[in-house]
Amino acid sequence: MTDSIHNPKASARIAQIAGDSDGWEVFNRSREMIAAGRSVVELTQGEHDILTDPSIIDAMEASARAGATGYAPVPGVMRLRQVVADRLTERTGVTTGPENVMITPGGQSALFAAHMAACDPGDRALFIDPYYATYPGTIRATGANAVPVVTRPEDGFQPRPADIAGLATGARSLLINSPNNPTGGVYGRTVLEGIAEIVTRNGMWLISDEVYDTQVWDGSHLSSRALPGMTERTLVVGSMSKSHAMTGSRVGWIVGPAPVIANLIDLATVTTYGVPGFLQDAAVFALTQDRSFEETIAAPFRRRREIATRILGQRQGLRLHKASAAMYVMVDVRATGLSGEDFANRLLDDHGIAVMPGESFGLATAGHLRIALTVDDARLEAALTTLAEMADALAREARAVPG
Ligand code: PMP
Repeated sequence: MTDSIHNPKASARIAQIAGDSDGWEVFNRSREMIAAGRSVVELTQGEHDILTDPSIIDAMEASARAGATGYAPVPGVMRLRQVVADRLTERTGVTTGPENVMITPGGQSALFAAHMAACDPGDRALFIDPYYATYPGTIRATGANAVPVVTRPEDGFQPRPADIAGLATGARSLLINSPNNPTGGVYGRTVLEGIAEIVTRNGMWLISDEVYDTQVWDGSHLSSRALPGMTERTLVVGSMSKSHAMTGSRVGWIVGPAPVIANLIDLATVTTYGVPGFLQDAAVFALTQDRSFEETIAAPFRRRREIATRILGQRQGLRLHKASAAMYVMVDVRATGLSGEDFANRLLDDHGIAVMPGESFGLATAGHLRIALTVDDARLEAALTTLAEMADALAREARAVPG
């Protein structure tokens, strides 16, 4: 007998989830440096610098003590499905009921479920580049083909409908993310209407990741599901992670037409088997607070966006893409002559500051850095000043080199 009979290999499908590069090298190095006792300012992950509010923890504990520790209903507890449905009805104007909502373990699980609902193995699933780091792997995990639509820095990384149209023939789905991670951009009505027209013409699903919908500083959030004709072909991904600083609680949702939600409940039955009831009860508590509750959680990012604009706005060595939303800003460091990766590695080694190289998010943001605004204002200000001075010095050197 050969070895291969004794030692089965992992499936090709699971082996190719990660792809060629995971893009987390700088993040992992910074964690190693911290573990070795070095002080590092981490501006990498989208993790708040506050903990989940004690009132939410109290609601969690009260629920668990009252008995919500057994199996919860697979689609989610009815009260939470109703609260999420009411929230969407109120905020988007689209009448939504609990039959349109399934609760998931975080938005990430909803992204996977949405692609399982939309695509068969081998189908083309489009997504916009730059993208949240898990997108291509999530699509590959379903067996679909992940096809990027590459945007341009000069467009503020907003997709051109013509670029999407050029790749849409035969595609089953398009994944968009507005407000956007990594760019901090918000898609305007014209872009969203252009997208709606293309997905409708091509009989596609639109998967709309709206996990940053409570963190918009300029303009307002528009959900694609509210555009004419889009309710029946849009799957919205939402989450408590960013809006309520509940990243570790793993409570999110998927919203769509009732028949697809029924299919997704079948999927959840054979995968997650639901979300713990006491976490769902805590989410009900959080979502039924005054709107000022989530505004307080968003406020530091709005304030720090201003700090970033003040420090990074007018520099020789970098160009800031002014963020309209979310927890991040994107800067172009191509004037330094370094790639985003080289710049980020040098910034970490020389100054103990960790940011994400733009290359981690696709082709469009090569030569850029994504800076998460996730440390207190004073540390952020100091770190951004150091980063900007390094970029200016490198740009001066780059220009001094003849040729
Ligand atoms: N979508 C985007 C754009 C994100 O940035 C994140 C998390 N950083 C997620 C989805 C997933 O979030 P979660 O699973 O915590 O809800």
